[in-house]
Amino acid sequence: MHVTQPAPTVVRRICPLCEASCGLELKVAEGRVLSIRGDDSDVFSAGYLCPKGVALKDLHEDPDRLRKPLVKRDGRFVEVSWDEAFAEIERRLPPLIERHGRNTAAVVLGNPSVHKLGLMLYGPRLLKALGTQQMYSASTLDQMPKQLSCGLMYGSWLSVPVPDIERCGFLLILGGNPVASNGSLWTVPDFRGKARDMQARGGRIVVVDPRRSETAELANEHLFIRPGGDVFFLLGLVHTLFDEQRVRLGRLEPHLAGVDEVRQAVAPYTPERVASRCGIDAATIRRLARELAAAPQAAVYGRLGTCTQEYGTLASWLVDVLNALTGHLDEPGGMMFPKAAAFAANTAGKPGIGRGVITGRYKSRVSGAPEVIGELPLTCLAEEIEAPGEDRVRALITIASNPVLSAPHGERLSAALDTLDFMVSVDIYLNETTRHADVILPGRSPLEDAHYDVTFSQLSYRNHARYSEPVFAPPAGQPAEWQVLQRLTAIVLGLGADADLEALDDRQTLEQVRKLAGEQADAVFAAVSKHRGPQRLLDLGLRSGPWGDGFGARPDGLTLDKVRAAPAGIDLGALQPRVPEVLRTPSGRIELAPPVLLQDLERVAADLERPAPPLVIVGRRHVRSNNSWMHNLPVLAKGPVRCTLLVHPADADRLGLRDGETARLVAAGGRSVEAPVQLSDEMMPGVVSLPHGWGHHLPGTQLRVAAERPGANLNALLDDSQRDPLSGNAVLSGVPVRLEPVAASAGA
Ligand code: SF4
Repeated sequence: MHVTQPAPTVVRRICPLCEASCGLELKVAEGRVLSIRGDDSDVFSAGYLCPKGVALKDLHEDPDRLRKPLVKRDGRFVEVSWDEAFAEIERRLPPLIERHGRNTAAVVLGNPSVHKLGLMLYGPRLLKALGTQQMYSASTLDQMPKQLSCGLMYGSWLSVPVPDIERCGFLLILGGNPVASNGSLWTVPDFRGKARDMQARGGRIVVVDPRRSETAELANEHLFIRPGGDVFFLLGLVHTLFDEQRVRLGRLEPHLAGVDEVRQAVAPYTPERVASRCGIDAATIRRLARELAAAPQAAVYGRLGTCTQEYGTLASWLVDVLNALTGHLDEPGGMMFPKAAAFAANTAGKPGIGRGVITGRYKSRVSGAPEVIGELPLTCLAEEIEAPGEDRVRALITIASNPVLSAPHGERLSAALDTLDFMVSVDIYLNETTRHADVILPGRSPLEDAHYDVTFSQLSYRNHARYSEPVFAPPAGQPAEWQVLQRLTAIVLGLGADADLEALDDRQTLEQVRKLAGEQADAVFAAVSKHRGPQRLLDLGLRSGPWGDGFGARPDGLTLDKVRAAPAGIDLGALQPRVPEVLRTPSGRIELAPPVLLQDLERVAADLERPAPPLVIVGRRHVRSNNSWMHNLPVLAKGPVRCTLLVHPADADRLGLRDGETARLVAAGGRSVEAPVQLSDEMMPGVVSLPHGWGHHLPGTQLRVAAERPGANLNALLDDSQRDPLSGNAVLSGVPVRLEPVAASAGA
């Protein structure tokens, strides 16, 4: 639906601003949004929306949002036509690849790309055409450990179990704040409402976090934990289950491999030994293990704080080990595997067995960091640009990504970007990263694009299929992002900037269909080709998916037309047990003790006695923000300053800090930022918190609202050499810092 008529019209759109994917109802007229509310009829979110959802209007109407391509000439951006922009790319990118090889071109995918159907479905084609090993994304900033541990245990990267909250009786949350996020690697709109329903049924929520977060406030119990101490806490819990004979494998027993290996591996980690390292006393660890084991329906959910640390993969693994050993994995009310209607690797191929996952097929050139899911750690990008050598990164394509603010040591990355021979950005903003580009290709407003959640339907608390039509027609001549990526693909393939994109799309789609349908390929291709572009791929995904019509074999099954005909979405029901069908491991079993993880426990053993640094820093999430990309929206930017440094009053006393004063944070290497102090007993003493994604004071951007309240950049403090060695995830939590009053240090 393209709304142009003057009379107000109500249209539905899935919100693209965070993982919760709420269904929204927009009242629109004459190309403008009049109001936004939650869509009561939405089968998945049932009318819920958070303050960010309303900001979709601001995003659509933001005068700073780019609408024309920009090319840098003599150091300044000038608006050009699309043809001129692609001609510039064709003139400069292919010769670099020809001269220096495919790995000279790097790609960075940012978080918003996962909210765009076109970018999700056509990004892989550009990557394949480039053939580069220099692929980076936001995944190595916050979620790769969970994907790696799940890949090793279940055989595919997005087989991530989520809490079945509607039937759960005991929910243990580590390092996550779903009241603010509405789930992360767990799509659960209105977490607060669902949590309250759970408590009303007599359920219990326990939150383990170095901050008494909004979720902890709502919980029945909150425990402070030393940042980075999760692995020790979890080892203590698993140890207790074995020690007290509380392991209960239940229905999964024949499907689990490695129980004895886990028993041996955790034997040294008594609650008494791990207590000081995690900051939670032994009696509490034992009590929680007993409660978890005794609960008929329980789930342990670990999120951001468990990933953004040096033991991210181990902590993520142990969360699932706990669920499995207490009989709560793949059980109603426990941790369950969604069955997405389209695009899930764990519904493709032969059920119950597969090739599993492999990492380290190649390593980063400078640090030797192993590849995971075809990606290198984003914290390696600066050194890959800086270090001389034939394989040096000389060209970069960023897609909806702002690593100068979102990755550690952005100042270094910023300087490195200035040395590139060529950089292209596909982005809606001239931001702290894209200001370094030679060409910026603007994306469309989300309201000008159709939408289907490729990823989040694989992580949802309930199975569903929902599709949104575009709300508005795009500006004349503005291509969709999938067309932008196809044109870049054509340039990289040597077909030229003016290649026939329809023909290229036909060719590449037919190739995909052949892999999927074999001898039936021509018939399947004909069946889906009444749609074009992403819609054709979506129809292909839905019809070949577990709920699909099988191209006529199951006439009641899903097709794109059926999903489209249900604007409030199609509910596919509560999550169902899926083991062993969901597994894609070579053994056909859940690998409870992957050797690479058992081996990594050696680091933990060596680290058991490490004393707590006097002060460490963690990030935090606010419901009115999501990474760096919503700070230019007036409706979210207004109100109290949110980029404050939370400091426990006892720490403030010790350091001579007062509420509202500016303090300087200094980290290793002398990197420092200044931020206003907010005294708060929600912090664990010895831990301070600054939200991430801020620091909009850098020159050369076009983010006028954000620049008025730039905030301090947490990531500017962090060290880009600190990573979880298995997943390559950046260490963002528990980093030692020094804190001093600005006035005192200025006078010193
Ligand atoms: S929680 Fe808010 S930002 Fe996230 S999808 Fe829902 S309305 Fe949008």
